[in-house]
Amino acid sequence: AKKRGKNQVHYFTEQLNQKIISEIAMEQELKRALANHEFEMYYQPKTCVKTGKVMGVESLIRWIHPKKGIISPKEFIPIAEQTGLIIPLGNWILQQAMQDQLEWQKQYGITLPVSVNVSAIQFGHDKFFSELHDLIYRLNFEPRHLDIEVTESVLMGDTEKHLTLLKKIRGIGISISLDDFGTGYSSLAYLKTFPINTLKIDKSFLDDYRSNSGSVFIDTMVRMAENLNISVVAEGVESQEQLDYLSSIQCQCYQGYYCSKPIPKKEFIQLVHKLNV
Ligand code: C2E
Ligand code: CA
Ligand code: CA
Ligand code: CA
Repeated sequence: AKKRGKNQVHYFTEQLNQKIISEIAMEQELKRALANHEFEMYYQPKTCVKTGKVMGVESLIRWIHPKKGIISPKEFIPIAEQTGLIIPLGNWILQQAMQDQLEWQKQYGITLPVSVNVSAIQFGHDKFFSELHDLIYRLNFEPRHLDIEVTESVLMGDTEKHLTLLKKIRGIGISISLDDFGTGYSSLAYLKTFPINTLKIDKSFLDDYRSNSGSVFIDTMVRMAENLNISVVAEGVESQEQLDYLSSIQCQCYQGYYCSKPIPKKEFIQLVHKLNV
């Protein structure tokens, strides 16, 4: 038994070493990728439930690796956060999303607000606001065309600090979405405390809408948002049935594969031309 215990410790140490080695390798890879312009922003429409028209768009990062192909943000965002690379990467993301929005507007006459995901580390960084402000100024970007998606975890911790920051962001005309709504510990408290423009109802509720409890939750969130004058986006809509359900409870806006997966910007323009006739 003693020997097995020792072997297990050895095994776990090995595993841990492997994990650290692969994370260090990943960090180097990420730095190289940033310098090499291997990241690309994909875009997923925010679609009106009633009319099927595109009302806005969420930017979602992809790593187009020269050998491995497309790598999901779920794999590299956590490592970018741990290593601090999320700061330059996050700035690049904001700039790219705003530049693309400007391009659609100028070249194609398409004016849509663009939503950018902001990670907790990025949001908590001392220079977040000043860098965001500078970027908007430099690009001559209209702040009302920018929406920032944060999760509850982003807001956790220093309430005063986060409240002040959100007020500053709102103060210059940028809007705030609360992402993955309903999955955290105190979603209601967040709504009460923070100046939120939009609730994004997490996909897990839509997956479950047919069960009695599932539909009660979605319906309740939509009614509550309505009463609070907050807009709602349902995430992860994959079927006509789900869309019909959202329509029946007067949910205004959705995202999901049913309309489109996140796609490269050129394809996104074509999709908007098709849907917004
Ligand atoms: P999220 O912000 O909650 O984004 C929604 C995710 O659900 C996206 O995955 C999207 O592709 C996926 N999705 C959309 N509609 C459907 C659907 O109908 N069915 C299913 N099964 N999935 C759907 P993605 O692009 O892989 O991003 C995963 C997460 O990575 C995001 O979750 C976000 O937390 C993070 N992320 C992505 N891009 C960025 C970014 O630019 N910056 C930061 N900080 N995080 C990002
Ligand atoms: Ca999001
Ligand atoms: Ca989400
Ligand atoms: Ca999420």
